[in-house]
Amino acid sequence: MSKKYVYMFSEGDASMRNLLGGKGANLAEMTKMGLPIPQGFTVTTEACNKYYEDGEVIAGEVVEQIKASLAKLEEIAGKKFGDSKNPLLVSVRSGARVSMPGMMDTILNLGLNDISVEGIAESTQNPRFAYDSYRRFIQMFSDVVMEIAKSKFEKVLDEMKESKGVKYDSELTAEDMKNVVAKFKEIYKAEKGEDFPQDPYAQLMAAVRAVFRSWNNPRAIVYRRMNDIPSNWGTAVNVQMMVFGNMGETSGTGVAFTRNPATGDKEIFGEYLINAQGEDVVAGIRTPKSIKTLEEDMPEVYKQFMDIANTLEKHYKDMQDMEFTIENGKLFFLQTRSGKRTAKAALKIAVDMVDEGLINEEEALLKVEPKQLDQLLHPTFDADALKKAKPLGKGLPASPGAAAGKVYFTAEDAKNAKEAGERVILVRLETSPEDIEGMVAAEGILTVRGGMTSHAAVVARGMGTCCVCGLGEIKINEEEKYFTLAGQTFHEGDYISLDGSTGNVYGEDIPTVKPEITGNFARFMEWADKVRKLKVRTNADTPKDAKTAVEFGAEGIGLTRTEHMFFEEDRIPKVRKMILAKTEEERRKALDALLPLQKGDFIGIFEAMEGRPVTIRLLDPPLHEFLPHEDDDIRELAKDMGITFEELKATVVSLHEFNPMMGHRGCRLAVSYPEIAEMQTRAIIEAAIEVKKNKGYDIVPEIMIPLVGEVKELKFVKSVVVKTADEVIKEAGVNLTYKVGTMIEIPRAAVTADQIAEEAEFFSFGTNDLTQMTFGFSRDDAGKFLEDYYEKQIYDFDPFAKLDQTGVGELVKIATEKGRSTRPDIKLGICGEHGGDPSSVEFCHNIGLDYVSCSPYRVPIARLAAAQAQVKNPR
Ligand code: ADP
Ligand code: MG
Ligand code: MG
Repeated sequence: MSKKYVYMFSEGDASMRNLLGGKGANLAEMTKMGLPIPQGFTVTTEACNKYYEDGEVIAGEVVEQIKASLAKLEEIAGKKFGDSKNPLLVSVRSGARVSMPGMMDTILNLGLNDISVEGIAESTQNPRFAYDSYRRFIQMFSDVVMEIAKSKFEKVLDEMKESKGVKYDSELTAEDMKNVVAKFKEIYKAEKGEDFPQDPYAQLMAAVRAVFRSWNNPRAIVYRRMNDIPSNWGTAVNVQMMVFGNMGETSGTGVAFTRNPATGDKEIFGEYLINAQGEDVVAGIRTPKSIKTLEEDMPEVYKQFMDIANTLEKHYKDMQDMEFTIENGKLFFLQTRSGKRTAKAALKIAVDMVDEGLINEEEALLKVEPKQLDQLLHPTFDADALKKAKPLGKGLPASPGAAAGKVYFTAEDAKNAKEAGERVILVRLETSPEDIEGMVAAEGILTVRGGMTSHAAVVARGMGTCCVCGLGEIKINEEEKYFTLAGQTFHEGDYISLDGSTGNVYGEDIPTVKPEITGNFARFMEWADKVRKLKVRTNADTPKDAKTAVEFGAEGIGLTRTEHMFFEEDRIPKVRKMILAKTEEERRKALDALLPLQKGDFIGIFEAMEGRPVTIRLLDPPLHEFLPHEDDDIRELAKDMGITFEELKATVVSLHEFNPMMGHRGCRLAVSYPEIAEMQTRAIIEAAIEVKKNKGYDIVPEIMIPLVGEVKELKFVKSVVVKTADEVIKEAGVNLTYKVGTMIEIPRAAVTADQIAEEAEFFSFGTNDLTQMTFGFSRDDAGKFLEDYYEKQIYDFDPFAKLDQTGVGELVKIATEKGRSTRPDIKLGICGEHGGDPSSVEFCHNIGLDYVSCSPYRVPIARLAAAQAQVKNPR
């Protein structure tokens, strides 16, 4: 028996999401629940993967199974596919494991051709409906399968509406639609050199292939990378019998959420259009009506709709995003899924559902995407400044938050401006999936057209980007890059501000303020803290960052980089003196001048952390980073320092390295110049003693020696640190304990971690360098070629953003085991970029690290990710 690649809806259920995709699994589940679902079948994600393994062909066995399932569907429907009088028509819908909005387009009314369109016109006595369906099918098939630009077809339709003096497609007659069909077919022929395909089977197979193909279109690849979706998941294909919302005034189509996806309020939220089909609602063809008016339009349907909506929410224990169609007064559901929502809504819904008794606290923790919390950790408008500002217009509050920046009109301009360091507001007539990169780059998005469920709104909410849409008063000229609103003209680069919570748009740059963790957010985070086993620390180099992190729940500092302090304007001359010193004596003198400054830094940090653990890393970067490299700058500095240009130039040249990342840095500096480590140790210990004395905090400083690859080099530097520290403690005549540990960031250290642990009291995985050294490419250069790797699917993700669990992660695991074998109570943490990435946090939980450390703004994200990891895999 060959493998099963196709499942009827009645054969599946919600647990089969990986195989059937989200849409297919839920259609099966709803079928099982006895809801009104047009029947159909799902071609599995495995068939998609097989398609690629076989060199982009649909295997014979898959084709056979599709045909067999189609025969079953014909029986259920009581209609024949390809029949000339009353044919079965289907939709072909993509559906991956997780929904990827706008990534892959659906084809409706498939199975129609020149003959059956007449048959349907006859049998339904509704020729307008027949030709409307056919013109839609031709356009969707041409666009999605044959890649003929949609705009060519839209132009014909626009011209037709204009010549008829009507505004909406729903006002066009049967005869008009028939003419549109004829013109559409001409376009097809002109573009493809052949007639529009008339064989329904050929149409179907071409559509299935197009869905498979779309899994690897560039937009899908970008979306996957942004959302941690591996390329080997594949997409399923759903083939479903059509129901028709375009049969007249008692038909329609809509989308709805069981709760408000922007605020989380418990109320039905949605829109529908009468006499419309498919994406008409989201595409903003006509202005949709609020779902609440359905109660007056069709009371019976509304009641049934609300019943099903409530049933679905209770069944899935989550807010549902539903799609439905009404055919001649009869309601059908076409989709349900967990609805995308803003972070604010996600928290409210999670907390409300616990209060309603629908879910428990642990389940609630899984209802919020950790990365989403980022939205709440970003600024809102300064209240006073906002009072003084006057809105120029008000659009729909599509995705909350505050954003101020310069306007740009294309995705590309937005992206470039962001890269140049600008705050960007993307302004578009409407957005489409091609705009995704510009939307990612933007602080805020403003559209002229489109409703609360438009592309811009849905995508912005998903990303947590502030968005105002449907501000129709704007006159926009995208080509010439300006728009006018309330009599004012804004060109590229002019400032505006958007309030995504009210829909207000302002013609100025309004200052924003820092957020706070209160209300639902605070309550939810308490649940997370109660559950998680992994501690969360922060990477902070200044008292200000340290304070922010503590407000966000940091339990300590995992990494303080001392070199950041060396770069400050009042310090760098002293650092340079130290570097240029010819003798140890001279160097010590220069270091003495730095000592009080460093000590001051550490006092500030210890005070901000109020006794929480603090890990301080000794100087790490190569010394030449502190010196100028251009002759002019060297000359100037030489003058300032009272030495000759030649002398300084010679030092700069002598410090030059071919590969500084692998050069004279980290603990190697302390091996050559132990006095640097001495000074830093003294500063740390003296600061700790002073703060302990003055504030009573019981500080146990953790001194971290970077870039160790061999236990003997650690042993050497550690002896310098210990000798100095003990001296200082003795001088002060106090009791103070401290720890000495190392970063594990060189593969050699990871594989000899049992030896390293003989000296190190703690390990902190420096996964930035460790990734760099394991892959053998640098973080700064990888950007140039990683794009090619994504495109060719060699790598799915940036390993500097998301921990490479197979390679780098394996080294972390080895080091963890080896370290513990020597020193069972060794403290283990991670302090690379990865410490704030949810999937990497989960990995750290699973391999048993003690803590993760990340930048202050990611602390809440890591706290939640750690809690989710514990719920999923208790330890
Ligand atoms: P997306 O994943 O982009 O939401 P869908 O596959 O859900 O795409 O299709 C979009 C819309 O097309 C649906 O919301 C529905 O209105 C319409 N549609 C899909 N299949 C059918 C069908 N069998 N009958 C009627 N309308 C359908
Ligand atoms: Mg779509
Ligand atoms: Mg859909």
